[in-house]
Parts: sequence; C-alpha cells; structure tokens
Amino acid sequence: MTIKKNIAKINKQLAGSAARLIAVTKTKPIEDLQEAYQADCKIFGENRVQEMVNKWKALPKDIEWHLIGHLQGNKVKEIVPFVSLIHSVDSMKLLKQIDFQAAKINRTVNCLLQIYIAQEDTKFGLSEEEAIEIIESEDLKSLHNIKIVGLMGMATFTENFPQVRREFKKLKTFFEVLKTVSEHRQIPNVELKEISMGMSGDYLIAIEEGSTLVRIGSFIFGNRYIT
Ligand SMILES: *Cc1c(COP(=O)(O)O)cnc(C)c1O
Repeated sequence: MTIKKNIAKINKQLAGSAARLIAVTKTKPIEDLQEAYQADCKIFGENRVQEMVNKWKALPKDIEWHLIGHLQGNKVKEIVPFVSLIHSVDSMKLLKQIDFQAAKINRTVNCLLQIYIAQEDTKFGLSEEEAIEIIESEDLKSLHNIKIVGLMGMATFTENFPQVRREFKKLKTFFEVLKTVSEHRQIPNVELKEISMGMSGDYLIAIEEGSTLVRIGSFIFGNRYIT
C-alpha cells in the first residue's frame, strides 16, 4: 500500500505543473510494478535493457517504457519494438543505430539527448557543444525513424540545493537555445518539448525549473540495495 500512497503524494505535487511522473522501477520486483500500475501509474523507467524487456513481457501492454540508463548499440534492437522514449542518447552513432533498427520495423522512436550538467565526471552525457553539433549535422536529416523530442539531465548528487537548481536552470536555458536553433533550421525530426530532470532527492526543484518528466524511484519504492 505504501507504493500507492507515495504515488498519490507525488501526483498531488505534480498537479498544476507541466511534469509527468516516470516511476523508476529498476531492480524492483514485478509485484511492485503491478502495485504502481493499479495506482494508475503507467509510465515506467528502467536502466537495463534485459530487465526492461523481461518486465515488458510480463506486464500489461498499455504501459509506457522509458529507457533512462546508458544504452549500448548492440542492445538497441531488443527495445526498439516497444520503447516509448529513450532518455539517454549520448552520441550520433547511437542515434544512427536506433534509426537503423527502427527503420527495419517501420517505427519512429522518440529520443532525448542526455546533456551533462553535473559537476561529477561519473555521469554519461553530451556537452552543449556536442548536442548542437548533432542537431546541426547533415547526417541527422537522413534519420527518418528517430525523433529528438527533448533533453535529459542529471544534477550533481549533493545536498547543495542551490547548486542543483543552477544545474537545472542551465539545462532549461540550453533547451530554449536548442529549440530556437532547431526551429530556425526546420529540422523535421527534431521537435523539442520534453525536459527530463528531477529524481527522488531533487524533483521538487526540477518542477520549479521547468521539468516535464520527473524520474522517481526510491521515493516511491524504497531504497535500492543494488543500482
Ligand atoms: C535510478 C535513476 C533515477 C531514479 O533515482 P531515485 O533517486 O531512486 O529517484 C532517475 N534517473 C536515472 C537516470 C536513474 O538511473
């Protein structure tokens, strides 16, 4: 019952904002996902391909599956048939691999570019310059089976909330810049509308700074003992 209660609490906090909740279900058993589903939470985020595939097979088909963790090119094929949004695109090479697999089954896969905003060097992601390079590249125009719909970022893991807020603001500002660039250039497979930012420890700040997708795991399901 606590899962339902936690989801209800978050939904209340999200009401009136632009943000939707992604329940981050990595490492959690199917029963936990079923409880969330019964609370009408039907967007799940996973960071490992095999785990996401297994859970997708086991659960109702009206669930949206979001891949939020680093994606290896050789795993793309397994998720392309059903994934709703890939948050963690961090190279042109990966975009091409997603496009290649999606074209084979006639799907268009929505993607976010993961931008590096934290002060830690353990996190994946693109610099702002690298993201602009992708958006402006000629190659992008030939990828008809992917669509870039926004940006994702992870703030530094710290209690220093002013710093976290600065990092979210930076992502939002960059989002606006990139949106202007892409609209000016009229790139058909770029339509920036999502900003995926905010986790259990910082989602209230993220909402204030313009997040449209918050990715919340431990606050809903309890601590994970493995990541
Ligand atoms: C695990 C994870 C989350 C959720 O983290 P919590 O702190 O448990 O809410 C969000 N985003 C990404 C990319 C993650 O890997």
